[in-house]
Amino acid sequence: MLENSSINPVSNQVAIVTGASRGIGAAIARRLAREGFAVAVTYASNNAAAGQVVSDIHAANGQAVAIKADVRNAADVTALFDETEATLGKTTLLVNNAGIMTLAPIADMDDASFDTMLSINLKGVFYMLREAARRLETGAKIVNISTSITRLASPTYGPYAATKAGVEILTAILAKELRGRGITVNAVAPGPTVTDLFFRGKSPDLIDKIAKLAPLERLGEPDDIANVVAMIAGRDGDWINGQTIFVNGGAA
Ligand code: NAP
Repeated sequence: MLENSSINPVSNQVAIVTGASRGIGAAIARRLAREGFAVAVTYASNNAAAGQVVSDIHAANGQAVAIKADVRNAADVTALFDETEATLGKTTLLVNNAGIMTLAPIADMDDASFDTMLSINLKGVFYMLREAARRLETGAKIVNISTSITRLASPTYGPYAATKAGVEILTAILAKELRGRGITVNAVAPGPTVTDLFFRGKSPDLIDKIAKLAPLERLGEPDDIANVVAMIAGRDGDWINGQTIFVNGGAA
C-alpha cells in the first residue's frame, strides 16, 4: 500500500516531469508516483538531487527513473521521450515544469538573461509540446507550469512573465490543435512558492511582504501546486481542457 491513498487512481500511466530534481517539479514527481504513475524525473545538471527524488519514490514503492535532458536542446527532448518509452513505457502525461527566473526592470535587463529565460521557459516548452503533439496517444494529458505573475504583472518580472504568457497561449492553441485525439492540454499558474527559484535574491522583508499578498497570508508550498497537477492528471480532471488554472491562495 502506498502512503496517502489516492482519490482518483490511474494505472499503467507514465509521466515525464521536466525540472523534477528540485522545487515544484520534485513535489509533482513524488505526488504522481503516489498516484500510480511511473515517473521520468528529468533534470538539467543536478543528478544528485534527481537521484534523491527517484530514491524517495522507490522507497515508497513507486516507479521512477532519472533522465538528464536540457529542454533548450531539441535532440535532448527527443532522446528524453525515447528513453522514457524504453525504460517505463509510452508517455501518458507530460508536465512541463522546468523553468528559470531572472528579475530586473526592463530598462536594466541584459541580453544574456533574456535569451536564457526565453530558451528554457518558452522554446524548451515548445520543443516538449511539439514532440508530445507528434507522439502522445488518446487519453494522454499535458500540464504546463506558468506563473500567476502573468496576471499580477509586477514590476521587474517583465521578460519572465512574457515567456510564461507565451506558455499560456501555446497551451490554449495546442488544446485546439489536438481536437479529435482525446488529449487535454492545460496550464497551472502558481503564485509565490517556497523553492530555490523564489528565494534567490530576495531579502527577508521582501519575502514577508510577498507572503502577505495572498488573503491566506502565506507562501505556497510545492505540494499545493502538485495537488492541482495530480487532480488534472487523474480522472477527476478529464473535462478540464485548454485552461490556465491559477493556484496562489488568492494572490491576484
Ligand atoms: P527550482 O526550484 O529552481 O527548480 C528548477 C528546476 O528546473 C530544476 O529541477 C532544474 O534542474 C530544472 N531546469 C533548469 N534549467 C533547465 C533546463 N535548461 N532544462 C531542463 N531542466 C532545467 O524552480 P521552481 O520554483 O520549482 O520552478 C518550477 C516551475 O514553476 C518553473 O517553471 C517556474 O517558472 C514556475 N513557478 C515557480 C514559482 C515559485 O514561486 N517558485 C511561481 C510560479 C511559477 P537542475 O536541478 O538540474 O538545475
